[in-house]
Amino acid sequence: MASLRDRRSAELYRRAVELLPGGVNSPVRAMRSIGRDPIFIARGEGAELVDVDGNRFIDYVCSWGPLIHGHAHPQVLAAVQEAATLGTSFGAATPGEVELAAAVVARMERVEMLRMTSSGTEATMTAIRLARAATGREHVLKFAGAYHGHVDGLLAQAGSGLATQALPASPGVPQGAAAGTVVVPWNDPEALRQATERYELAAIVAEPLPANMGLVAAREGFLELLRERADATGALLVLDEVISGFRVARGGAQELTGVGADLTIMGKVIGGGLPAAALGGRTELMRMLAPAGDVYQAGTLSGNPLAVAAGLATLALLDEGAYARLATTTERLAAGLRDAAGDYPVQVVSAPGLLTVFFSERAPSDFADAQACDLDSYARWCRALLSRGVYPPPSQFEAWFPSLAHSAEQIARTVEAATAAFASLRGVGATV
Ligand SMILES: *Cc1c(COP(=O)(O)O)cnc(C)c1O
Repeated sequence: MASLRDRRSAELYRRAVELLPGGVNSPVRAMRSIGRDPIFIARGEGAELVDVDGNRFIDYVCSWGPLIHGHAHPQVLAAVQEAATLGTSFGAATPGEVELAAAVVARMERVEMLRMTSSGTEATMTAIRLARAATGREHVLKFAGAYHGHVDGLLAQAGSGLATQALPASPGVPQGAAAGTVVVPWNDPEALRQATERYELAAIVAEPLPANMGLVAAREGFLELLRERADATGALLVLDEVISGFRVARGGAQELTGVGADLTIMGKVIGGGLPAAALGGRTELMRMLAPAGDVYQAGTLSGNPLAVAAGLATLALLDEGAYARLATTTERLAAGLRDAAGDYPVQVVSAPGLLTVFFSERAPSDFADAQACDLDSYARWCRALLSRGVYPPPSQFEAWFPSLAHSAEQIARTVEAATAAFASLRGVGATV
């Protein structure tokens, strides 16, 4: 098996590590957890990536979720180009913000009003500040393995890049920030009950479809229990739909599951590949934010016209047919990967537009299960996929993001590469 051409990537990486910590601007891009150096990308075309050495990959990262229509979708590009000719940022109110807010409110049943930010992290920070202000309480409950951005108080037992690096939290987070956080195992009703009785909680924060420890769905009744415990104790239920929002269904995971939030965090798809995120909820809560209320929050580039244009174009393309197609594509990929694995001990877990291949005997139901996966084999399998033209998330703890740009032919090629990659793990054929 030919390995990747990597002369230019290696050259760029040598310069990058001198200039950027670890050579990257976000940890998981470094590909350390799959035991290789980062690949530098030159361009994206639909479902494919082309790197600086001319290698071509079928991309299942898709910028970690925003690119539900794939790379460089002509309508998204046209919207951004048109917006750019009018000026890139004004630091003033613009018509697009009103349109995007209306488009979000039309889709998300529990969102009557929203505040836009530039990242999901900022939206989470604001949601927590708002929940604390609204309840007059300080403690926030989160689940082990859930990732809500790099907010100080929520880094405790976070998934995503932190899981990959096996850091329990992060140096530099003051004790005071972490002291307000209560961490409970996902899918553990008894632990949740006890924590909600013991602490006066401002908020229960959860990914309704956790995807930052790999995809680990709620067991039957667990999301309903979150809602019930929030209502019973006067805490707000904050659902982080940064990944699931506008992806798993038009109205996000809340539409799929029927469990609604008091505050919803949105990101990724909402910005169509440009920096945009938002926090939304009931009018009476949202009006507590400045300048309508006195809970402070601001952002130089919040509601940026280019990001708003990309988000509007992205949402406009997401009709019911699009969701049915994305579900079919995901199912086809999941079934193909299961076939490719044969009797190899992996679990393919999927939801519409999301998928994880866990290297384990059974599907994880919490963070401890996910951490017990065979990360070494996952790493070898990923390297084998890369050398066969498939770009998987370079971490067991990140989800695959099939997009509407992935064709049946590209899925078939992916399954072929996966079959060969599993064969190489079994020691049949060349190893990578
Ligand atoms: C990516 C992500 C975030 C953070 O968003 P950023 O834009 O990277 O700050 C928050 N929550 C979830 C569930 C995410 O997947």
